[in-house]
Amino acid sequence: MPVSNMKNLVSYLTDDGGEADIVIQFKIDGAKRRMITGQVHATVSMQCQRCLEAIRLEIKDEIKLALLESEDHIKSLPRHLDPWVCEGDRLSLLELVQEQLILCLPIVAIHVTGKCNANTNYRSENERIESDINVAEQQSNPFAVLKQLKNKFID
Ligand SMILES: [Zn+2]
Repeated sequence: MPVSNMKNLVSYLTDDGGEADIVIQFKIDGAKRRMITGQVHATVSMQCQRCLEAIRLEIKDEIKLALLESEDHIKSLPRHLDPWVCEGDRLSLLELVQEQLILCLPIVAIHVTGKCNANTNYRSENERIESDINVAEQQSNPFAVLKQLKNKFID
């Protein structure tokens, strides 16, 4: 499925290029639950929250959903199954897949150290602050005054 078909997912991304690979199985389990299982996989780009450049991310997940007719049944679901509430007899597969992919996205995307374009700026900013501190320390160091006096006596 083209990523550009999934508008809600695209709203988290820097572009709508690429495709999502989706494998879905429909079945009824031993407890007579209507189940949707399978895998979703896509490569997408999000904005790095440090340097604001794009990061390529591979997102994938196993789907293990039990179809429920109402939210009232969520409590009775075993922990290893996720609920998917489906009122009526029609189901939007697009919505379902899109939701699963959105759940795979990191809350905050940041490049790994060394790959982030903000790294060099960040370091030079730190160095600048450090050199400012050194200047301030030299100016306020009381021994600097004594040293000057001592030098005067020797002269
Ligand atoms: Zn970055």
